[in-house]
Amino acid sequence: MLKLLVLISIMFMPLTVEALDEGSKIEQLSPKAKETFTKFLKKAREEFPKHTIIVAETYRTQQRQDKLFKKGSNTTTVRISKHTKRVAADIYFIKNGKISAYHQAPYLELGELGESFGLRWGGRWKMPFDPGHYEVQG
Ligand SMILES: [Zn+2]
Repeated sequence: MLKLLVLISIMFMPLTVEALDEGSKIEQLSPKAKETFTKFLKKAREEFPKHTIIVAETYRTQQRQDKLFKKGSNTTTVRISKHTKRVAADIYFIKNGKISAYHQAPYLELGELGESFGLRWGGRWKMPFDPGHYEVQG
């Protein structure tokens, strides 16, 4: 029920946001990812003070990954995900309580900032184009 309440529709994909606070989500990451994403988010909020930035999801259980995969969800197209390895996070801009579509927010600039922290950015991918996704490389 709670998950239904936090289902957010956005222009490029439907997204289920885990009902956890950001600190708890960050805590679920591996130590290295936790350190990198903490620094990245701090810098991102300094660079984009007029924007609200949220962490939608970090760690995903393999059970949830399988469910999303089976459902043919836009959230994932893979069975093996960096989210289950605790090294990925989905980060979005929020406007009026909704996730901003790619062309409405500085996703490219945020993506480049993420890359400057050594993260791989899903906005560079074509299949799927995933501008909210960041993962630790390697
Ligand atoms: Zn992701």
